[in-house]
Amino acid sequence: MRLLVATRNTGKLREIRHEMARAGWTELEIVSLAQVGPAPVIPEDQPDFTGNARQKALGYASATGLLTLAEDSGLCVDALDGAPGVRSARYAGEPCDDRANNGRLLGALAGVGAAQRTARFVCAAALARPRAVLTVLSDQLEGVILEAPRGANGFGYDPLFFVPELGRTTAELSLEEKTRFSHRGKALRRLMQWMREHRPLWWQMDP
Ligand code: IMP
Repeated sequence: MRLLVATRNTGKLREIRHEMARAGWTELEIVSLAQVGPAPVIPEDQPDFTGNARQKALGYASATGLLTLAEDSGLCVDALDGAPGVRSARYAGEPCDDRANNGRLLGALAGVGAAQRTARFVCAAALARPRAVLTVLSDQLEGVILEAPRGANGFGYDPLFFVPELGRTTAELSLEEKTRFSHRGKALRRLMQWMREHRPLWWQMDP
């Protein structure tokens, strides 16, 4: 059975493929948006991660006829009242540019002391079939924003996101380590648990 992972972000896709392979979902063939051909761009205009994840999963499932997993994620910084939040990908404008986003974040936090630079990555992961959202599950990872980037792995804000318990930024973690601790890894594992417990709701569905 095919599962569409509805993202155009290659960093996210790599992490989701890794985590699902690790969990042994051999009966699911993961296909990406790039593989299903031209699909409409579903807007991300909801006020929260959960709303965007639901909207994307439902939109792409209905457009393609496939069981679809979509996630919405981002960085919420306490000293910025939760910004960039759902605007994380577009913080420095369109199109998404990780380097520019990190530059804007450092600028916004200039003069903010270490103790006030607390933040979290949030991820909402939704599963939908055509015309029906099946579930949406969220998780997060706490950290602090550094004053200069560290590490070359990952994507997005990873070089600035320091995890005190690990003593490293998420850009200094391997793919394996990052998915073990990350907002996305944890939200995905919740979703996979839901899929194991509710198999009749999605397995061999008839669109
Ligand atoms: P969207 O979910 O496609 O709207 O965009 C998510 C954006 O949040 C990404 O473009 C990154 O800027 C940021 N983000 C989400 N998850 C991560 C992560 O694991 N590491 C670094 N940045 C992230």
